Amino acid sequence: MTNERDVKGRIFDIQRYSIHDGPGIRTIVFFKGCGLRCRWCCNPESQRRDPEQMERGGRVETVGRDATVAEVMAEILRDLPYYKRSGGGVTLSGGECMLQPDFAAALLAACRAAGLHTAVETAGFAPRENIERVLPLVDLVLMDLKHTDPDKHRAWCGQPNDRIIDNVRYIAAHARETVVRVPVIPGFNDDEPTVRSIARFAASLPGVRELHLLPYHRLGYDKYIGLGRPYGMGDVPPLSQERARALLSVAEESGLACRIGG
Ligand code: SF4
Repeated sequence: MTNERDVKGRIFDIQRYSIHDGPGIRTIVFFKGCGLRCRWCCNPESQRRDPEQMERGGRVETVGRDATVAEVMAEILRDLPYYKRSGGGVTLSGGECMLQPDFAAALLAACRAAGLHTAVETAGFAPRENIERVLPLVDLVLMDLKHTDPDKHRAWCGQPNDRIIDNVRYIAAHARETVVRVPVIPGFNDDEPTVRSIARFAASLPGVRELHLLPYHRLGYDKYIGLGRPYGMGDVPPLSQERARALLSVAEESGLACRIGG
């Protein structure tokens, strides 16, 4: 029988001292592999499951490696005093962490055993049984919700959203706490009716009280160049603060506590 600490997962980064993606000071573990292909994705190196070469700062590096729970925990526990003092912990991000349920569950269980707050960031595009396995070990779910229209979702993210909507309902009904996060993407979902529709849907879910708007930015652009892939958003400029504030007012009509940023 495999010891839980020997379970291996494929990750591409571990980021310390994050003050986003959950309360307090956190370590973010980035899982490699995602079933979606969002045009605006700012972590394109997260999408493919296989390790790949990426040029960064004039150097070519391999992105993606296998690590055991014990190895990742050794990194995480370096900052134990910061988590304790700030009420922080660990967030599994990606990529899609729900596509590696054995590793995610073993890692979250180890975090729990160390007394850490646990969070996952998910787009919900994963088999239900994976979600059922991981969810009981999670204190906070940061649930990406991109669009309520299946055709628009398919055109911009590579897959329709029916399974996602189903999973969002399940997660909201069963998670300890769920925050809905909406990437606001020009030409995709930055119009009032779409934001209204997403916010209304979020407000109809049990247990959801908060919604965050995440304005489109171009910070991932250089990574596409480094990977030799075309950037799906072309020259589209970042969403202006003024536009984000206007859409925030629309989202607030839902009655949810809304804010800009994660
Ligand atoms: S779900 Fe997230 S990680 Fe996956 S392609 Fe979309 S933005 Fe990228």
